[in-house]
Amino acid sequence: MTKEEILAIIEKENVNFFRIQFCDINGFMKNVAVPKSQIEKALDGKIMFDGSSIDGFARIQESDMYLKPDYNTFCVLPWRRRNGVSAARIMCDVHKADGTPFIGCPRVNLKRILAEAKEMGFTMNVGTEAEFFLFKLDEKGNATTTTDDNAGYFNLDPEDTGLDCRREIIETLEEMGYEIEASHHEVAEGQHEINFKYADALTCADNTVTFKWVVKSIAKKHGLHATFMPKPIFGINGSGMHTNQSLFNLDGTNAFADESDPLKLSQVAYQYIAGIMKNARGFSAVTNPIVNSYKRLVPGYEAPVYVAWSTSNRSALVRIPASRGIGTRVELRCPDPCCNPYLAFAMMLSSGLDGVKNKLAVPAPTNSNIFDMTATEKIEAGIASMPSSLSEAIEELKASPLTRHTLGEHIYEKYIINKEAEWDHYRISVTDWEVKEYLNIY
Ligand code: GLN
Ligand code: MG
Ligand code: MG
Ligand code: MG
Repeated sequence: MTKEEILAIIEKENVNFFRIQFCDINGFMKNVAVPKSQIEKALDGKIMFDGSSIDGFARIQESDMYLKPDYNTFCVLPWRRRNGVSAARIMCDVHKADGTPFIGCPRVNLKRILAEAKEMGFTMNVGTEAEFFLFKLDEKGNATTTTDDNAGYFNLDPEDTGLDCRREIIETLEEMGYEIEASHHEVAEGQHEINFKYADALTCADNTVTFKWVVKSIAKKHGLHATFMPKPIFGINGSGMHTNQSLFNLDGTNAFADESDPLKLSQVAYQYIAGIMKNARGFSAVTNPIVNSYKRLVPGYEAPVYVAWSTSNRSALVRIPASRGIGTRVELRCPDPCCNPYLAFAMMLSSGLDGVKNKLAVPAPTNSNIFDMTATEKIEAGIASMPSSLSEAIEELKASPLTRHTLGEHIYEKYIINKEAEWDHYRISVTDWEVKEYLNIY
């Protein structure tokens, strides 16, 4: 899109609220809203903000930052239309006062890693499957963890009261230009999934953060609370964000496809999988970023626990979906929707490229159910586990040289400080579980 095209839409739709957005390192979308008179200034990237007020951004001394919009991310917000007046948004890169890109901006950082891939002759395509729950509000309007639907996986309408809300989410996304491929009720009560079309990694990261915002906004309209928390309820499935990824050659062909291979996968694909597996424990603190993430990565709920790959088995960390040719891809099943997709995609990509660069050999696929294997069988097959807590994941992150390079010094340092504080906060708190378990017997 060009500036002129955007200005034309702004006129036609009578946009008077323009939101200029970017993401902090925790993946939270931030925005500054400007009225119509400031829209040109915003489109020219001349809007300033105080970077030192944003979590993990800048120091006070260098806090003046600019928001440089990416014109392709412009869109009108269908649910904010009122009395003939519209609202729109645009996503931005954060730039420093001297006009150069700020390396602490996750979007800028992803572009750096994508440029490295390009030097090797690849672009990356990504498709995410962010699952979420729709919960009821209590009388005071606070979120609960109760759902009033008792539908299950792929169930039909009557049992599924979240359906109207899901339908409006889809209509809104379509109006914003998303191509919706499917939507269905997930395994757990009140749990949903909406699949939109894959895109290049940067666009997909933009689409994923926007998707979460739309879901939450529309749910609110319906008097429901949408949450992407990975494991809101003990004992039932959590919410993952399976991330489908493929490398494409610069001529537009899929670099993972090879008709002559028994599994129709190329050497690049095998090496990419090997790189993902080698680095999975190290990037887990990024793909699974919060204390609660590790309550999801447990046996029994279709979430991965072990570092293994498979062409069929859904207990594996990496699965190869059946589609081949241009649709050949690798599905990484550990990420959850709380991750910052800009950072998570950068980590996955550089992990896969580590495999390609170093021609890593992929271990044999595990097509049996890993959860049914004994401890000895797993050791014999060389199958490692994902970290079992945020604390373990932070240690792995610190130990991984690839992580430091991929996040860049700035984000790496801030991220670790942030996550260690989060873990510490959790570590010293006394949970309901402890009180229930210990109060009476000791
Ligand atoms: N909810 C599961 C997870 O945590 C995935 C279930 C599915 O998509 N089949 O990853
Ligand atoms: Mg799915
Ligand atoms: Mg799913
Ligand atoms: Mg999936």
